[in-house]
Amino acid sequence: MLKGIGASSGYGIGKAVIIKDINTDYSAVKFAGAEEEKARLHQAVADFLEETNQLIAEVKASAGDHEAEILEGHVAMLNDPFMLSQMEDIITGGVVAEGAVDQVCSMFIDMFSSVDDELTRQRASDIKDIKESLLRILLHAETVDIAGVPAGSILIAKDFTPSMTSQIKKDNVAAIITEIGGVTSHSAILARAMGIPAVLSVLNVTDIITDGEALIVDGFKGKVMQNPSEEEVREYEEKKAVYLAEKESLNEYFGKTTMTKSGVVKKVYGNIGKAEDAQNVLQNGGEGIGLFRTEFLFMDRDHEPTEQEQFEAYSTVAKAMDGKEVIIRTLDIGGDKAIDYLNITKEDNPFMGHRAIRYCLSNPDLFKKQLRAILRAAQFGDIKIMLPLVTTLEEVREAKALIKACEAELEAEELRYRSVDLGVMIETPAAALISDLLAQEVSFFSIGTNDLTGYTMAADRGNPHVANLYDAMQPSVLRAIEMTIKNAKSAGIMVGMCGEAAADERMIPMLIEWGLDEFSVTPTNILQTRKLICENE
Ligand code: PEP
Ligand code: MG
Repeated sequence: MLKGIGASSGYGIGKAVIIKDINTDYSAVKFAGAEEEKARLHQAVADFLEETNQLIAEVKASAGDHEAEILEGHVAMLNDPFMLSQMEDIITGGVVAEGAVDQVCSMFIDMFSSVDDELTRQRASDIKDIKESLLRILLHAETVDIAGVPAGSILIAKDFTPSMTSQIKKDNVAAIITEIGGVTSHSAILARAMGIPAVLSVLNVTDIITDGEALIVDGFKGKVMQNPSEEEVREYEEKKAVYLAEKESLNEYFGKTTMTKSGVVKKVYGNIGKAEDAQNVLQNGGEGIGLFRTEFLFMDRDHEPTEQEQFEAYSTVAKAMDGKEVIIRTLDIGGDKAIDYLNITKEDNPFMGHRAIRYCLSNPDLFKKQLRAILRAAQFGDIKIMLPLVTTLEEVREAKALIKACEAELEAEELRYRSVDLGVMIETPAAALISDLLAQEVSFFSIGTNDLTGYTMAADRGNPHVANLYDAMQPSVLRAIEMTIKNAKSAGIMVGMCGEAAADERMIPMLIEWGLDEFSVTPTNILQTRKLICENE
């Protein structure tokens, strides 16, 4: 069995089709004169544009407008007269068309890959894709006809460029496997959009597997099984049938208004931890982002992210969500989320210690960087700020004063920003008990049942000895939730829930009855949650 990253859910059963890298060595090509080489270049560009425009139409039909944007970007880049005129200048200097394409594209690739910004780096991989396509066309190089593979094909390549991925006909491709790439690569995004199971980053897979070999691909667990037994095939056929039937029954809820049987409209949002996860929310039918856990931007690194880095992450999410609401929770560290470089002092009881909003308020420089980044990113979408682990009114007032100070600074520095709504998480009994007062200070609440359950029941969510007590369905927790929702309603502010209980089948009918407005859940639970809400009175 081979292991990789499960980047698109589902099971694929079929035969391997290996797509080897095309040979783009042009050293044997002879210079045919500047005019002839320019004519070859123009013909190749025209062929590329025709091919790509055709792909755009097909992708729009099979995966949607959004997915075609990558390819539309390719067309725009090549239609830019600057790039073409640079290639022509090089040809005038006595270089073959292939060399001109190679030199100009490589220059842009180097330039874009050295920039410390995800979106710009992405452009480098777009240009790499354009370069390979142009060389392939110029050299009449052979590739596997991806669009023409037979049904049940499992496509295997080092990586899939967007133009390769978009030739895939979803009815014929049972799965895709690559040697590189992760959950957020172009191939993963397109594979998910087309509903094709994908396992990425399987080391040396193009050498290990042979063309025509029988395979089973498990896109959930990131597993690839070679030459499976009849029994394994039967087992996976069954799993696949169950999965597809479930998926089918949920698909009807994609893009549907979340409305209860009695006609009350609710919102189902997704929770994210990284900017790239916004795509995941959209692909799962989310109407917004109810919780962006920003502490993940601070983890797995050895220094604090700069204001600019944070600004880019928040802007990426705002732009991806295209006007849909994005609730950004300010840094929630401490407790179980340690960050070495922040030098948080060791505490005997960290869950009741100097964490989350408490830590941020006593480290205003760090906190202000985050607030400034959020305010600046707010110009690109409907961003809101949410404070974690609030227990007093003073914390909210202090945070508000800091936000005002950040706005004044940005004003003075003539940096663009937008004022945003402020909300708090209700995840401590203290916050629930003063939710009537907090409602006078903020524009919205989001109930964090993960912590609210733990603090109300005095039971740690990770301790198996008290697991029976850690239960959001306990009457005490339910009372805290009901009280919070009622207080929000009387004050006329929006109230959501972003703890795991928002997707709990047993909880949803009560939340509807009490009047919860927004349910923010793990992206893969979005459609199921919408279904449960739509089936309730
Ligand atoms: C919660 O406590 O319910 C919550 C959503 O926050 P986290 O799980 O990040 O603590
Ligand atoms: Mg919490």
